[in-house]
Amino acid sequence: MSDKFAWITEEMTALEGQGLRTGIRTIGSACGPWMVVDGKRVLNFCTNNYLGLANHPRLKKAAQDAVEQWGVGPAAVRSIAGTLELHRQLEQRLAAFKGVEDALYVQSGFCANQAAIPPMVGKGDVIFTDRLNHASIIDGCRLSSAKVFVYEHCDLADCERVIMENIGQYRRALLITDGVFSMDGDVAPLDKLFELCERHGIITMVDDAHGEGVLGHGGRGIVDHFQLNGKFDLEIGTLSKAFGVMGGVIAGKKVVIDWIRQKARPFLFSSAVTAADTAACLAAVDLLEESTALVEKLWDNTRYFKEGMRQAGFDMGASVTPITPVILGEATMAQEFSRRLFASEPGIFAMPIGFPTVPQGKARIRVMISAAHTQDDLETGLNTFTRIGRELGVIG
Ligand code: PMP
Repeated sequence: MSDKFAWITEEMTALEGQGLRTGIRTIGSACGPWMVVDGKRVLNFCTNNYLGLANHPRLKKAAQDAVEQWGVGPAAVRSIAGTLELHRQLEQRLAAFKGVEDALYVQSGFCANQAAIPPMVGKGDVIFTDRLNHASIIDGCRLSSAKVFVYEHCDLADCERVIMENIGQYRRALLITDGVFSMDGDVAPLDKLFELCERHGIITMVDDAHGEGVLGHGGRGIVDHFQLNGKFDLEIGTLSKAFGVMGGVIAGKKVVIDWIRQKARPFLFSSAVTAADTAACLAAVDLLEESTALVEKLWDNTRYFKEGMRQAGFDMGASVTPITPVILGEATMAQEFSRRLFASEPGIFAMPIGFPTVPQGKARIRVMISAAHTQDDLETGLNTFTRIGRELGVIG
């Protein structure tokens, strides 16, 4: 009998040969600047724990209290069996934090894009989307059945050209961009994109997954950074990065959020986020509203680390945020670099990223800086990167 899955073995072998097979490590401790990974205590430069909230005592206490009060699972889809008071509280707090009229809390950031896009555009409509937008945006666009036009990354002239050439043939138009691009750490020209959309009556949507808790006053995000508060039609966010917990958010004008609440399939057909997660997110909003200290620490750490890497001679592309891509070229080089980082004493946890997540020949190690890193941690990171960079001939 023939092996029905021989093709998988072949494809896997090919991935292995190209250095593109994803190896998933096993975590044996809470998320923080130091973690146990595959049984070894290592310095963590890998997670999106920008503000160090993933293991914060206030968030843990809020989650524990919520379990006592609400139990462990909602056992329900919100639109059918009702929404917890906690869900609504979080939505109102997030809307106020971002300076918008309303918000909808969903299961993840990935889910938020899939929930938000199809209700806004469908057959006969058009989407303009940045070439480097996140996978969840790409999938959300596909789910909508709208015609999709990709413009070159952060290229306003190309974006305008694509709009001018196509907009006339469609009913409604939506422009979507990541705020901070997750693999490069660069920032979309949101003000210019907004002007362009205003001129052409295009619905505006930004995915602020890596801007919340990072950019803007006290971490209010990319829209606040560009002083466009309340002007963007849709702001997508995640509670799994700077907020340290889980879940996604769709924020914007009440009329839009009301509509999405009626139509979004992940909201209508999939169970809600737990009370514990929701309560922990509320505690995260409390912390951000109480003080800007963590956001400032994140930026101090970012400036210090990037300056050290720049002096050592590393290529960090166009990054202007705590996302620090250390661009190494071939995927096999990035894999070897990451392996040596992990094998060092102390070990460093920073994973290689290759094609198709980033373009061929642009494989990298993505270093994620956190407010929880100490000066010693950052120096350890800099020294180890520099030593291995020299060993492998990446820097002089
Ligand atoms: N959008 C962007 C830009 C992201 O980087 C991510 C996380 N990788 C997501 C959405 C998905 O967020 P979540 O992990 O909460 O599903």
